[in-house]
Amino acid sequence: MIKINLGGIVPFSTIDWRGKAAMVIFLRGCPLRCMYCQNYNLLEGTHYVEMKELEEELIKNEAFIDAVVLSGGEPFMQPHAVEAIAHGAKKHSLFVAVQTNGFYSDIIKSTLKRNLIDKILLDLKAPLSDERLYESLTKVAGVAGRVKNTLDACIHAPKNIDLELVTTVFKNLVGSEEVKRIAKDIEEAGAAGCPYVIQQGRAEHVPDKAIKEDDMFSHEELKELAADAYHAADLKEVRIRTREDGEEVIYRRS
Ligand code: SF4
Repeated sequence: MIKINLGGIVPFSTIDWRGKAAMVIFLRGCPLRCMYCQNYNLLEGTHYVEMKELEEELIKNEAFIDAVVLSGGEPFMQPHAVEAIAHGAKKHSLFVAVQTNGFYSDIIKSTLKRNLIDKILLDLKAPLSDERLYESLTKVAGVAGRVKNTLDACIHAPKNIDLELVTTVFKNLVGSEEVKRIAKDIEEAGAAGCPYVIQQGRAEHVPDKAIKEDDMFSHEELKELAADAYHAADLKEVRIRTREDGEEVIYRRS
């Protein structure tokens, strides 16, 4: 029987997968320690449940949702759980998305071969050539190279998946220069057709108050960052995401 280290469940969400009503399942554990993590309480600890409990939740909600989104923590830290939940979701004709930091590139590559995942929401926390910035944000060495491999695996997945690329921004950490370089990374990787989402980093819940209110970009400033990304590379679509206004498409090439 498969045991899943569960962080929590949001039975109904319309903000985690644009255009879809989803149940969000948070899996515990993450190999990174991002200085701006909003889910610090999910990075460690155990709360094991059996897959049949999650399936009961799916059955309870299947009339209201069309998708399951796996989040965390880092879902691919529990590859067996990702596969079991995706399998369970497919039995109920639900779409499956996974939010990932891209650290486990080999696991992601082999999971994608099983054709159970419809969408990957991949964090690009910093430019992919900037291991130093990646390490200072995540407190772990060698992350950027792995994320680059994950991006490549998603682009060349055997089944065509939806791919969305997400950067969380903060003043003096990840701002205009970084989103421009990330936009170029996306273009060079062959993912210019995928939506690029610039997400407002938040100060609350951050461990050790490492991020202050003043480090947060305003809504207008996020739009300027979207312009920077859009003009730096030939991206098809650039969006911004804030807690107050959700996701907004700022630029789209026809
Ligand atoms: S990858 Fe996500 S869950 Fe893991 S530490 Fe970073 S922000 Fe938190």
